[in-house]
Amino acid sequence: MGNEINVSLTVELAHQCVKCSACRSVCPTYSVVKEERSSPRGRLALAEAVVDGLMPLTEDIARQWNECAMCRRCEWICPNEVEYKEIMFRARHLADEKLEKRDFVKSAVYNGLAMMGNFITKTAMKIAPKILEFYGKASKKEVPEYNAVFLDTGIPKFTKLMPKPTAKPFALRGKISKPNKEKKGRLLFFTGCMIDAFYGKTGESVIKLMNSLGYEVVVPENIRCCGAPQLYGGQVELFEKLYRHNKEEIDKYEFDYIVVACPTCGGALKEEYKYPVKDFAEILAEEGYLVFSGNGEKVTFHFPCHSYTAMKTNPNVYRTVLKNVKNAEYVEGEQAMMCCGFAGYFSVANYEVATELQKRKVKDIENTKAQYVLSDCPGCVFNIADGMYKHGDYKNIQVKHLADYLAERLEEK
Ligand code: SF4
Ligand code: SF4
Repeated sequence: MGNEINVSLTVELAHQCVKCSACRSVCPTYSVVKEERSSPRGRLALAEAVVDGLMPLTEDIARQWNECAMCRRCEWICPNEVEYKEIMFRARHLADEKLEKRDFVKSAVYNGLAMMGNFITKTAMKIAPKILEFYGKASKKEVPEYNAVFLDTGIPKFTKLMPKPTAKPFALRGKISKPNKEKKGRLLFFTGCMIDAFYGKTGESVIKLMNSLGYEVVVPENIRCCGAPQLYGGQVELFEKLYRHNKEEIDKYEFDYIVVACPTCGGALKEEYKYPVKDFAEILAEEGYLVFSGNGEKVTFHFPCHSYTAMKTNPNVYRTVLKNVKNAEYVEGEQAMMCCGFAGYFSVANYEVATELQKRKVKDIENTKAQYVLSDCPGCVFNIADGMYKHGDYKNIQVKHLADYLAERLEEK
């Protein structure tokens, strides 16, 4: 993709779907709402009708498009290779352009994310841990099991279990970490907003694992949000700004691959920026020789949708890595590949549907009887921890990023 993105919802794109309905069986929102217009096929049919001039573009149609989590499971299963993401971000962009009613919360979320890493957000993130610490103590809402604070705003969709922000946000920026053996290559680590702000330890875990394999890891000084949330949301101009900024920064560095621990960032870097990208787990599975030792625990895994849809990481990568942990048992939930209901702004805008998906995810995890639920996406970790606290057995089930779980169990030679 070049600098100027084509936002035109063409007749050719809008007519790709042959309406076979294979996608309905995997769509998380359809599984909750059970209405044709809330299915992938229904959303695409609305886009087709608007493009063909058979229906006027209304707020009701835009609402159906916005009720989609953009998990892209429909695209993943579609036998006809319908380009769902391409159609839907154009449809959302069209709705933003043509309809008078503005969603100010959506604009605030996407603009706020776009600023992550600039001076204002770096300063804000420095004081955020202290404010949250104070709030947790004063309101007795600290949740030590998850090193988190339950932020109770009184508004359900804004009431969240918040991980305590990392002690030094953005601390990995500009660092070069040397391998502890002969260097075999150089990776550029695109940390992503949530690792920078909340899960700094996860970033350190990725670096530790890659250094142990012999890779030098460099974290660019001045990257911003990858832009995937903005693009998926139809805010194409914002995405373009981020794209240009990040590309200029990334192109200053020499590297063999970009490594990620967030498949939404990874998908955008691969599909839109056209960089060579690998997930850290993919590199671990390919190289295969690090040894991990568990403590007799049972673990389960939540497959982030974008890992297999946008990043196109083979799900067996995770199974291979987890089955190779000594003295630990891997057990897979029946719905391990189903969306957890987060999808960023989706869970705020579609609170009821997102909460139902979150509850189902918690139930599926509990059915496995595992003591740990792992995932390879900071957003999924955030949402599942929130779900476990609100609806599940959070005192007995730990939620962790896969990188942290593995780094803690790495046998050092
Ligand atoms: S999107 Fe694909 S799977 Fe879904 S109805 Fe259309 S052609 Fe069939
Ligand atoms: S992207 Fe996900 S939520 Fe949206 S229509 Fe496709 S399967 Fe359903």
